[in-house]
Amino acid sequence: MHDLILRAARLPGRDAPVDLAIDAGRLTGKPSRAGREEIALDGRLVIPGLWDAHVHFGQWARTRGRLDVSRAGSVAEACTTVREAHADGLLIGFGFRWATWADTPTAEALDAARTAPTVLLSGDLHTAWVNTAAAAELGCRTGVLREDEAFAAERALDAAPLPLAAVADAARAAASRGIVGIVDLEFADTVEQWSARIAAGVDALRVSAGFYPDLLDARIAAGARTGLAVAGTRGLLTHGPLKVITDGSLNTRTAHCVDPYPDGGVGMQNVDAAALTALMSSATAAGIDCAIHAIGDAANTIALDAFAASGARGTVEHAQLLADSDAARFAVLGVVASVQPEHALDDRDVADELWAGRTGRAFPLRALLDAGARVVLGSDAPVAPLDPWIAIGAAVHRTREHRPAWHGEHALTVDEAIASSTRTKVAPGEVADLAVLDDDPWTAGPDALRALPVALTLVGGRVTHASL
Ligand SMILES: [Zn+2]
Repeated sequence: MHDLILRAARLPGRDAPVDLAIDAGRLTGKPSRAGREEIALDGRLVIPGLWDAHVHFGQWARTRGRLDVSRAGSVAEACTTVREAHADGLLIGFGFRWATWADTPTAEALDAARTAPTVLLSGDLHTAWVNTAAAAELGCRTGVLREDEAFAAERALDAAPLPLAAVADAARAAASRGIVGIVDLEFADTVEQWSARIAAGVDALRVSAGFYPDLLDARIAAGARTGLAVAGTRGLLTHGPLKVITDGSLNTRTAHCVDPYPDGGVGMQNVDAAALTALMSSATAAGIDCAIHAIGDAANTIALDAFAASGARGTVEHAQLLADSDAARFAVLGVVASVQPEHALDDRDVADELWAGRTGRAFPLRALLDAGARVVLGSDAPVAPLDPWIAIGAAVHRTREHRPAWHGEHALTVDEAIASSTRTKVAPGEVADLAVLDDDPWTAGPDALRALPVALTLVGGRVTHASL
């Protein structure tokens, strides 16, 4: 199965092209035998297949069909995008970021743009902007809904079944960017979802299936150790970490910080230290890793304390603002920092305002690596697109759209960014999860790196994307 030879592959740092042979899904050092399928790479670069360490896949698959309002810089611009959409029925837009807008979204403004049901969701999903017709359809208020009201409206929108074709399409799109695997942290039973999807032929991705505390007892009872393959999924689906959301977000001023926000308040700690340690201890005793959402510096300190107290393995998700002394604790405790570099660029202006004087320790990727910590990159799709080159480009250049770099002292090298996005090596005996590139990330400029073209993607030696 999947015996293949890739002719004239170029490996990073080596001049002479090599042939890569794949037997039964793994790279082999043995000389090739005749009769196997061959693909000519003509000197293209080959790197290990890429992983996205933080995805909400169902949300992402839905978002891809929604109106993009991420470019709007004001209420008027968002309404113009809605007016020009020419959609029928319920229109859902996604991605507006209004923390720095001069004006405030209202139901009247959205009604004037469109009388048919219309809902716009903010880029962090913590705000829903609802017109009169949509409020009647969803059974919610009109205007701007925040936090729990927004989440309720989103659940109502998500009650409509997600077509398998939309899932398959999103998986194919990820493969076309060199993705071989994701950690799915969707708010759902991801083991059940992906078992059904894989059985139905959606097999372009490896998936580590994360879950939330409501499923912890059931997972422990089922013996769902992290990394264990789920039966009947050809090894593509493995049990993933317990995710616990301990604080809020920067844009909603709910990330739990040591110092107050400009308008007062230090954010929210949703799970206190004792409860967090108890949850993590239960998971750890069952062989389950922990993925602890912590954005503010106070929340990160509490999360690291809980790792120390419980002896848990796993990640801090986001790690956006860190106390200076905490970067080293990631290394000492062996806690992985699971970060989303594109959020730094989405939120740089908000951070400059809400975390003024503290942004030197915001998204501190360089400080983490220099302290000896392991960093893994992700998108938090749909918050940022499920595209590893956007994350890698943001980590390396700390800018986009020709602005000056934002805290360039925390930039990663291309080598570091790719190493933080991969789990395997291109070497004999390794699983043949590979991405073949149509450009050179080591010489690509900022725009080209974000859009880096991928010629071929292989999962276990099986072609999941080809455009060569
Ligand atoms: Zn997330």
